[in-house]
Amino acid sequence: MKYNNEEKRPVIPHSRPSLGSGELRRVADVIRSGHLAQGRMVLAFEEAFSEKMAGKASVAVSSGTAALQLVLLAMGIGAGDEVIIPSYVCSALLNVVHHVAAKPVLADIDPDSGNMDPGDVKKRITRRTKAIIVPHMFGLAADLDGLMAPGVPIIEDCAQAVGGAYAGKPVGTFGHAAIFSFYATKVMTTGEGGMVVSGQKKLVDRIRDLREYDEKRAYKIRFNCKMTDMQAALGMAQLEKLSTFIRRRRNIAANYSRFLKEFGLRLPFTDPGHIYFRYVVGLKSDAAGVIRQLRGKGVMAARPVYKPLHQYLGRTGYPHTARVWRNSASLPIYPNLTSKEADRVLSAFAECLQGVGR
Ligand SMILES: *Cc1c(COP(=O)(O)O)cnc(C)c1O
Repeated sequence: MKYNNEEKRPVIPHSRPSLGSGELRRVADVIRSGHLAQGRMVLAFEEAFSEKMAGKASVAVSSGTAALQLVLLAMGIGAGDEVIIPSYVCSALLNVVHHVAAKPVLADIDPDSGNMDPGDVKKRITRRTKAIIVPHMFGLAADLDGLMAPGVPIIEDCAQAVGGAYAGKPVGTFGHAAIFSFYATKVMTTGEGGMVVSGQKKLVDRIRDLREYDEKRAYKIRFNCKMTDMQAALGMAQLEKLSTFIRRRRNIAANYSRFLKEFGLRLPFTDPGHIYFRYVVGLKSDAAGVIRQLRGKGVMAARPVYKPLHQYLGRTGYPHTARVWRNSASLPIYPNLTSKEADRVLSAFAECLQGVGR
């Protein structure tokens, strides 16, 4: 355990997986069985996942990035095509668009939600636009009605929002396809891993084909981005706990918001479908100072997006993304964050805010 000098108390990490004896037992069972790679457990995980997705087909893969790349390829997106993505998101989205040789078109966000702004997206649609990748940032569903209105195929990026809902229905069931990530510190984990969900049979078949190279009648360029049975076993144990995980996240978020509402900050929406993958607070100015001070107190806050994509690409014209990125701080929130730790997060944060004159 890491200790912090100033406080002489264990450091509270920004994120941390919630694992228990169920995960250990299920993975040990797979190891004992001697069948480690993609097999029955992956199939069982896909079926269990589909049950949460209104029966839509699920294809397990090695990461959220792989899931996105396979969706783009299976949709036939490539050179000469444009894909709209937000600037306020991790670089995985930029990578996959480049990997298929398409052109990334960046859109700005709605500063209140942190999600893509349908008005800004609409202005950037051209004849070449083949898809819009729509992340549900920090666990809050994007404005899907607004984003689907122009009729361009939507790929829902649910990497941060598994178990979340839009208009009372699970996210991942609205788009042409949806992808999920089970990276170690996401809402639920398989270590590394991902899932594609879609109701489009042809697309699903194509992705199953592209996922693995062996025993094919005709050659074409394929991948190896399968999930292992060990990972799927972990995923099964985590999936069983998903609703408990989300309940705990909502509880912590409600406590945070109750305490912080006096401070005049921009707090996360209280939407019934929000799962609070991140608890992101908007300050009045650059959050860097507060993040540094919190870390000094052993509370690992962070900017929730490392760097906006328009900055990586040297593009301008994303005022909401730029401001929200600069002013946002993400506080530790995860199912196994104890109430004591949550209290420490709040008292440390309150001290920092008083320090900077709010
Ligand atoms: C984590 C994440 C991804 C990528 O998932 P990996 O499993 O790490 O490849 C894609 N989109 C969003 C919004 C993410 O948070």
